Amino acid sequence: MEKTKVLIVGSGPAGFTAAIYTSRANLQPVLYEGIEPGGQLTTTTEIENFPGYPEGVDGNRMMADLRRQAERFGADIRTGVVTKVDLSSRPFHVVIDGTKEIETESLIVATGASAKYLGLPSETKFRGMGVSACATCDGFFYRKKDVAVVGGGDTACEEATYLASLCRKVYLIVRKPFLRASKAMQERVFATPNIEILFEHNTAEVLGDDSGVTGALLRRNDGSETTIDISGFFLAIGHHPNTELFAGQLDLDAEGYIAVVPGTSQTSVEGVFAAGDVKDPRYRQAITAAGSGCIAALDCERFLLK
Ligand code: NDP
Repeated sequence: MEKTKVLIVGSGPAGFTAAIYTSRANLQPVLYEGIEPGGQLTTTTEIENFPGYPEGVDGNRMMADLRRQAERFGADIRTGVVTKVDLSSRPFHVVIDGTKEIETESLIVATGASAKYLGLPSETKFRGMGVSACATCDGFFYRKKDVAVVGGGDTACEEATYLASLCRKVYLIVRKPFLRASKAMQERVFATPNIEILFEHNTAEVLGDDSGVTGALLRRNDGSETTIDISGFFLAIGHHPNTELFAGQLDLDAEGYIAVVPGTSQTSVEGVFAAGDVKDPRYRQAITAAGSGCIAALDCERFLLK
């Protein structure tokens, strides 16, 4: 069975930063990319708030750069999904793609978080046929068409603004009478003439036919219903942490995020460290994820030295 000192799970800014630090410390880390190589930033367009890029940087480009930087110091970056872990004793036992087994002295979990859906059967039916949780990935297909975005947070506002630059009209479906997004993001939405905000509306059904989404049935908080004609239906209602693999083995908070000792990456199991969105329901930024990847690598290095 293959043995490693450091196994990193996840390939967003947290995972790659942990790989850069642990490889420079000569710990020969092995990193498994997971289901979404490069993580959530590969589904975004321009990142304007990562320090060091005064002109902004494309999400895919940044992840490719982080990967090259980790490889330059010898990190072993592999395609594969961790399907099972046993953290009951050290070395930890990890299974990749249901077949390959690895024993590792330490584990850095950077599996991120995934988009939430409303849970409507019609939404599932039309997923990939007009229903999407990533405007920047799929917006292109709806050029000059009418679309809707669900949510009132920063993601929803960002996606609505992005879609407004491609589409004829964007409905922003918000269940509360106000937006939760930051002031700057709200102002951007209010200043975009082809975004119509539908406050106090919920989606009752996504409507469609063999060609895909054709509309949505909306229900106001007072019970009245209305239909909008749209070709694209975009979810932007938050994320859930990818921690199913660790349930029952690591302490999780009420929302399923990995609990760590405050100010560190230390989880409830000695030798297992968490970094990035998988432990961060609050900030969820590329820069905070990268910073926490660095913290996890340093904590891991100190643990292995003991
Ligand atoms: P948030 O949790 O902030 O917002 C989710 C939104 O979806 C809320 O408006 C919420 O409504 C709504 N919602 C949740 N569930 C449902 C549902 N079932 N039906 C209808 N609406 C629903 O998530 P975001 O992804 O927007 O943001 C996450 C974090 O990332 C935040 O901290 C945000 O600031 C940050 N972020 C920062 C960006 C930047 O700085 N450039 C860009 C994007 C995100 P309600 O308000 O009623 O709960």
